[in-house]
Amino acid sequence: MARIADLLAAGRTVSFEFFPPKTDAAQAQLVRTLRELETLEPSFVSVTYGAGGTTRERTHALVVGMLSTTALTPMAHLTCASHSRLDLAEILVRYRRAGLENLLALGGDPSKEPDAAPTELAIAEELVDLARAIGGFSLGVAAHPELHPRSTDRASDRRHLAAKLGKADFAITQFFFRLEDYLRLRDDLDALGCSKPVIAGIMPILSLKSVTRMAQLSGAEVPREVVQRIEAAGDDPEDVRRAGVEVATELCQDLLDEGVPGLHFYTLNQSTATREIAANLDLRPVAA
Ligand code: FAD
Repeated sequence: MARIADLLAAGRTVSFEFFPPKTDAAQAQLVRTLRELETLEPSFVSVTYGAGGTTRERTHALVVGMLSTTALTPMAHLTCASHSRLDLAEILVRYRRAGLENLLALGGDPSKEPDAAPTELAIAEELVDLARAIGGFSLGVAAHPELHPRSTDRASDRRHLAAKLGKADFAITQFFFRLEDYLRLRDDLDALGCSKPVIAGIMPILSLKSVTRMAQLSGAEVPREVVQRIEAAGDDPEDVRRAGVEVATELCQDLLDEGVPGLHFYTLNQSTATREIAANLDLRPVAA
């Protein structure tokens, strides 16, 4: 096991994100994907947490299973929404007892369920404080190059990000398609005196419809020029994936040229696009 803060200090990281599967078929698909992506020797892999705790046990089982049965370094995501402070502390202590060292501390989105449990910690920064108090974690937080959807203005969004990132070890961004959005985020943080590593989140487009929906939910935009390139590929899913891989490869190359501290791929539990991008870039983690 390794701490992500140490991996980042040693050189550029490459990481993959997965979600906990719901069905046996989805579990089998994930096992295949993990086996295929493990050969790329990722620096770490991360496992998402369902809004409001809907995957509490499944996220725990997948992360702890990775710890005990693979050579991968896992990071668990955890969100504050619909949890008490005690609930969150219990989850964190259980992870530490299992030997987990890496956590992505998130605010999460408020539940729309009328009978959802109340939320005690309002923002990710408070979860960073709680995890620090428990101790032993290398801590990441989320960053939003195109601003968080609930942020009213850029200045306050960046101020809040700098405050939580100042207490954490690194950030991972929401996916984005324009290099300028990442560079502006980095410059804004620099201006606020925050120089912690900001890993770039990369979403290879597999379907224009689904990526546009995800972008709308997360406050990101699929730029017109990207939409046009994907549309020009036609309707065959293979051609769409090829065009999506081309777009993502170019963005990753630009980010690497800019000295990005890490690339984090939103795999959607599939390996083909991520493997193709990694092959195009001859991508491996770089340890100094
Ligand atoms: P927070 O830091 O909690 O901020 C939320 C809002 O509050 C922002 O607008 C911020 O500017 C504002 N704010 C912060 N501090 C203050 C303050 N002191 N005063 C006033 N306002 C403040 N969601 C999931 O449900 N599960 C996941 O596994 C998951 N993984 C993610 C991974 C990554 C890399 C990213 C980028 C996002 C992920 N999300 C996940 C989505 C995330 O939970 C949502 O973006 C959520 O709406 C906010 O959480 P946050 O940690 O990004 O923001």
